[in-house]
Amino acid sequence: MTGGRRPPDALVAGGGLAGSAVATWLARAGLAVTVLERDLHPRHRICGEFLSWEAQAWLADLGVDLVALGAVPIRHVRLVAGQRVVSAPLGFTGLSLSRLRLDAALLDRAAAAGARVIRGCHVRALEPDGTLATSFGPLSAPVTLVATGKHALRGAFRDRSGTLDHQLGFKTYFRLRPDMREALADHVELILFEGGYAGLQLVERQMANLCLLVSANRYQAAGGRFESLLASLLAETPHLARRLADAVPLLDRPLAIGRVPYGYLWQPEPGAPPTRLPVGDQATVIPSFTGDGMGLALHGARLAATALLEGSGAQGYAARLAADAGPALRRATRLQRLVGEGPARQARLALLASLVPSLLTLSARLTRLPPRALAAAAGPPASGPGRFA
Ligand SMILES: Cc1cc2nc3c(=O)[nH]c(=O)nc-3n(C[C@H](O)[C@H](O)[C@H](O)COP(=O)(O)OP(=O)(O)OC[C@H]3O[C@@H](n4cnc5c(N)ncnc54)[C@H](O)[C@@H]3O)c2cc1C
Repeated sequence: MTGGRRPPDALVAGGGLAGSAVATWLARAGLAVTVLERDLHPRHRICGEFLSWEAQAWLADLGVDLVALGAVPIRHVRLVAGQRVVSAPLGFTGLSLSRLRLDAALLDRAAAAGARVIRGCHVRALEPDGTLATSFGPLSAPVTLVATGKHALRGAFRDRSGTLDHQLGFKTYFRLRPDMREALADHVELILFEGGYAGLQLVERQMANLCLLVSANRYQAAGGRFESLLASLLAETPHLARRLADAVPLLDRPLAIGRVPYGYLWQPEPGAPPTRLPVGDQATVIPSFTGDGMGLALHGARLAATALLEGSGAQGYAARLAADAGPALRRATRLQRLVGEGPARQARLALLASLVPSLLTLSARLTRLPPRALAAAAGPPASGPGRFA
């Protein structure tokens, strides 16, 4: 499998955002890293594709030029609940780029840093001794990082108690009518509806990303069909109906996901192996409306690389992760509960936001990583192979 190469110091299961990032940082420090990515080719991912400034900062560190890839700026948020529409500045310039482009660019950065990237390798399980059971056979290394994203990997247990995991997520693209494209430009729109919410924003090539989270009940009430769900949302939300008037769907069918454990924060069991770490959504899952899942995934990847290189291992990593991400995770999960599923709560929230639009800017700030956490993690990770053991 290593074909005359140096045996890997670290195996990374999953070459998405967090997996590519941690592989790049470890490879830059001189470790022999192998990334095992299930998909043979880049593909669309379920994601609102909003890049917070924290995500942008980490991506710049990784050498990804978002604007060159076609990312578009977003400076305002627009909250929509029924007839009420409230706009506010975000307080920073977000960017928007498809995961198709972003994930491919990130895996390229990992390869350019010296990581070995194996596409088409399905990791089936993490064995108790740290071996990865894969479609290429069993693989092991002193360090194992689980970066398989939203989906559970057999043997990598996530305690879902206390998380909000009863919603279904959907994402699709539309080509909007030119006047609607213009109206949407520079904005991320958060549209609340009974049983969930949707996010709408432009990404590169003038495509609009519609991403929504909906309770299983609401979905069943629409006959368990996305088309019927969307039709019912258009009927009850005039704003969304206006936006999507004459829009052309760009995917054959939407991407879908279930049981994302919002609010999850990894904590190692006592005596957990120091060099077996989850990163990205395997370690933290922040509610999607914050648009900071990618920032958090990258931040956690950086903390994991630093902990391995400094030798503070799983416990050191978990402590930093909890300190940096815990408060934003808790606030965002509380807010997601508050937005909840009832139109009455949503209407109250929208009324409050219309009276004090700066609350929207404030909630955007309070549900993301604090700048001091980013600054503290941004120094060069300790370098040199051998310090991770
Ligand atoms: C509905 C929704 C909307 C969101 N919107 C936003 C947003 O607008 N902005 C934002 O910042 N965040 C958003 N997020 C969160 C964001 O998508 C995640 O936090 C981020 O993708 C986590 O990155 P990751 O690397 O952990 O996982 P992923 O990006 O999911 O990557 C996992 C990788 O592992 C691979 N893989 C999976 N299983 C295996 C296996 N068994 N073997 C080998 N490879 C495997 C996959 O192919 C993939 O490449 C949203 C999430 C959802 C659900």
